Amino acid sequence: MTTHKREVNAVIAYGSNVGDTRRYIQLALEMTANMPETILARHSALRSTFPVKVNATPTTMYSNAVALVSTTLEPLALLAQTQKIENQLGRVRTGFWSERTVDLDIILYGDLISWSPELIIPHPRVYWRDFVLSPACEIVPNMLIPTSQRTFAQTRTLMNWGFTSFPLVSQLIRRPGERLS
Ligand code: ADP
Ligand code: MG
Repeated sequence: MTTHKREVNAVIAYGSNVGDTRRYIQLALEMTANMPETILARHSALRSTFPVKVNATPTTMYSNAVALVSTTLEPLALLAQTQKIENQLGRVRTGFWSERTVDLDIILYGDLISWSPELIIPHPRVYWRDFVLSPACEIVPNMLIPTSQRTFAQTRTLMNWGFTSFPLVSQLIRRPGERLS
């Protein structure tokens, strides 16, 4: 009897703010399509965003995109593959939120909720990062974020209303009509 590995839909976010940022994202997407056991189902358009955080040169814009993949890789094996892409594209880690040639974050892995330090899923900052929510809404608006049980589109609406600035608060606000059990 053959055992079939489970195919999981995972969402990956890409960011770059060093050098030819659009080229880095393009290359990272191509390398994602070449990952083992993984199909790149679709990806968003590339967009340019102003840096949100410190250390970045004020004039350096970020390029961002989000991709949907179908994979039979286990979560940590998928993380190893995304880190391999970061390393191959020459990311130099100089500190938290520092400049990087390319950064790949696993946003969702099916309906998995994981709190291990090396892999937190859903990505803890997804609820208020428009550079993730906006491209995610372009390709998978109705996909559910399992922690909040809200779709990307609903999460983005809440963010625009200012409700998700604090992630724990966003977890506590229930959808209309939802019963607290
Ligand atoms: P950020 O993406 O928030 O700017 P980094 O990319 O520098 O921060 O963080 C990398 C670390 O985050 C890695 O050591 C990795 O193990 C950990 N990590 C935890 N959860 C995730 C996730 N969902 N996707 C990618 N890396 C994650
Ligand atoms: Mg990262």
